[in-house]
Amino acid sequence: MRTPLDSKRTVAELKELRGLTSDENGAQRVAFTAPWAAGRAWLRGKLAQLPVETHADPAGNLWTTLPGESDRALVIGGHMDSVPSGGWLDGCLGIVAGMEVLRRISAQYRGRPPVTIRLVDWADEEGARFGRSLFGSSACSGTLDLEEARNLRDKDGLRLPDVLKEHGIDFERVKESGRELAGVGAYLELHIEQGPVLLDLDRPLGTVLGTCGVERHAITFHGQAAHSGSTPMNRRKDAFLAASKLGLEIYRIAERHGGVCTIGSCTTRPGIATSVVEECRIALDQRHLDGAALARMLEDAREAAGRFAGEGCVETSWSRLLRIDPIPFNADLLQLCDEAILETCGKGHRLPSGPLHDAAEVARAGVPVVMMFVQSLRGISHSKIEDTREEHLELSVKAFDCLVGKAMAWVQDKGR
Ligand SMILES: [Zn+2]
Repeated sequence: MRTPLDSKRTVAELKELRGLTSDENGAQRVAFTAPWAAGRAWLRGKLAQLPVETHADPAGNLWTTLPGESDRALVIGGHMDSVPSGGWLDGCLGIVAGMEVLRRISAQYRGRPPVTIRLVDWADEEGARFGRSLFGSSACSGTLDLEEARNLRDKDGLRLPDVLKEHGIDFERVKESGRELAGVGAYLELHIEQGPVLLDLDRPLGTVLGTCGVERHAITFHGQAAHSGSTPMNRRKDAFLAASKLGLEIYRIAERHGGVCTIGSCTTRPGIATSVVEECRIALDQRHLDGAALARMLEDAREAAGRFAGEGCVETSWSRLLRIDPIPFNADLLQLCDEAILETCGKGHRLPSGPLHDAAEVARAGVPVVMMFVQSLRGISHSKIEDTREEHLELSVKAFDCLVGKAMAWVQDKGR
């Protein structure tokens, strides 16, 4: 008989954690600060009641292991750190729900499951303090650029290596954490959606297809400053006009290819009401789960920007700010995640993740990965108003537990 899982306890523990590490503005568990350390100490205290071993790896990721009959491991992940004044669920839902699943498995198999089960709390997922997201998981996957990270400073001018040292982490050795991934057969992560897709579809849970690739460019339109009063409309070289046409066009481009496009910043020069805009600089962020479609979205944006510039007798120049490849999750695990959701609440949905997650880093290291999303109320995250209905949280714990059960069998099978 299966030991029942107590999904209400997960909600109660999330509230307990909130009580310990939040203030009136929201969660304050910024990585490598006192509230973050307090959150981890709380977690360690809870985990100590299970027959598990817990240690921090050289990058500060906290690993908890319930040894099984086989060394092949199934890893459940999440992150205890938050952005400043963040929500009560981002990251820690995966950890607290994972802990409940560990309890269920430990009780059901009397402390010795068929495969090894591990829970990992990634260090500094948010990158809120040093501006480098996915620190712990990218150190572990090996993609962290040490030269770049070595010089990072927080807003008080403190260097990342010095702050890490205070928490017992030797910056030069963080990549040694990669050894933790040896023998890992699958990685699963439960997370809040942080967007409105599941809410709008009225679905509590979704299967995450992967994390979107990103193309981010600065585009500058170069025109000619001229007096607002004396320059007839047909004689202008208005850099803003061309940029604003592109602002409309990206909605058509995104619709055509099924991705998302955002112009999130726009600065004009000279930037005064009495002059036609001479120079307009915008940042265009494009995301898609499919690399070829992402490339076509970029191509379309280039074509459109050139056309609008031509129409307005202005010039354009482009420079790339960021490029990230799409990271699709494992097809077998996607299937298992769909099944777990269907069995728990009867209806699911597959969706890509716009934001990056630690799971993407684990996938980059070659480990089969899938994530499950639970609906976010108002589609809002990284804010104290971030929320999810308690009944949906409970459903997510049950469905995730079901997924873990299926993935254990899958890992065991693969190991044969
Ligand atoms: Zn998160």
